Amino acid sequence: MIHDVQAKLDGLERHWECVVIGGGPAGAIAAICSAKAGLKTLLIERHALGKHKVCGACLNHRALRVLTSLGLHDAVRRLEGQSTHSFWLKGFGGELERRVPEGFAVSRSRLDRLLVTTAIEAGASVIDRVTATVEAPASSAADAQPNGTRGVRLNSVRQQNEIRIQAKAIVVADGLGHPSLKSTEFEERIAESSHVGIGAVVIDGRDSMPWVRPHTIHMAAASGGYAGLVLVEGGDVNLAAAVDPTFLRACGSPEKAFSALLGEAGFPSLPASTMSLGHRRQWRGTPSLSRSINRVASERVFVVGDASGYVEPFTGEGMAWAMHGGALVTRSVKIAVSGDLETAEADWAQDWRRQIYQSQRTCRRLAWLLRHPTVAKFGVSIAARFPGLTGRLIDQFDVELSA
Ligand SMILES: Cc1cc2nc3c(=O)[nH]c(=O)nc-3n(C[C@H](O)[C@H](O)[C@H](O)COP(=O)(O)OP(=O)(O)OC[C@H]3O[C@@H](n4cnc5c(N)ncnc54)[C@H](O)[C@@H]3O)c2cc1C
Repeated sequence: MIHDVQAKLDGLERHWECVVIGGGPAGAIAAICSAKAGLKTLLIERHALGKHKVCGACLNHRALRVLTSLGLHDAVRRLEGQSTHSFWLKGFGGELERRVPEGFAVSRSRLDRLLVTTAIEAGASVIDRVTATVEAPASSAADAQPNGTRGVRLNSVRQQNEIRIQAKAIVVADGLGHPSLKSTEFEERIAESSHVGIGAVVIDGRDSMPWVRPHTIHMAAASGGYAGLVLVEGGDVNLAAAVDPTFLRACGSPEKAFSALLGEAGFPSLPASTMSLGHRRQWRGTPSLSRSINRVASERVFVVGDASGYVEPFTGEGMAWAMHGGALVTRSVKIAVSGDLETAEADWAQDWRRQIYQSQRTCRRLAWLLRHPTVAKFGVSIAARFPGLTGRLIDQFDVELSA
């Protein structure tokens, strides 16, 4: 396997119009759109394709709209996930159930694999199990890259050798912490009170957790964080939570933390059988979730998805933002490839601010609310008594992202 990767790296072309780093929703969709626009595109993913990720696994109606616009509506339905149309929240002494615009729940391994396969079909080249690092911009004319390009270093997982490639435009979609930008002009800020993500999939969870309802997003809100459960394909149950790191440490393990959140909110705890290997896929974690970046475009680099800043997963919008960003960035990439860097960078900074950052506002407010249990308790009781208010909140999430 490792030899395959080495051989692929050695044989890889060195000059590309568009290099995309990261094979999640943002990167895969950027690669699909760039290849469809006729650009010579390379997508690089550091893990083997289809690896499980911490995620609530719920595509909301806005994410589905982006997928439909790419002609992927039927392909996504064929992944055999579940449509979702209800939201059931318990916590802070209250409970509410609401209808939400129809979404779709499917495991991330299936979804990411579909998107990367679509990028290949669109004409992009893809290499996985390879880590990409963007080089710092040239500090002098002597260091400048040939033919107006920027360099990217590629290492196979075992780092047996390293190659350098050049790109006219680089889309960085490498998720939280954007590791590929470590030694560049990009800097990030992590919010002090940031939660971290944890997640797992309970195989055949429908049998061991019969209280989990079909077509329903379950959310448990508690003082240590919040946890979401949903049925995905084949009766598996996807678990994902955003938790306070101190609470996680005090609980001793992700499954105990998850169970404690469920219990405090008023849902049944995780059954003991789900704690043993064989009944679940391994628990995984994420770095701090709430973070921002000092810029989203510079010197041929365009940052999209979680890498461009993330708030909290409470509203289940991360994939919609990532997908929309991946599709939207292609316009700036094409301008950069044509040589007008100044316009390309200014355009992406403006598109990102107007269409992604602005739509994260509601999520930022809700994240604040959840950190203040007294206010959150009041919020849940008001929402339960006045369904029209939650309807209006849901409408806010429904604001159309324009192309
Ligand atoms: C607990 C939790 C629950 C969530 N629930 C939901 C939900 O229900 N619905 C929703 O829409 N969103 C949800 N989200 C958010 C969602 O998971 C993210 O917003 C989404 O995955 C972002 O996509 P992305 O493509 O930007 O990043 P990612 O999906 O993280 O993809 C980044 C990719 O880049 C790769 N990579 C990293 N570094 C390199 C490198 N140097 N070289 C090459 N490849 C690299 C990684 O391996 C990864 O595959 C949740 C998040 C959390 C933490």
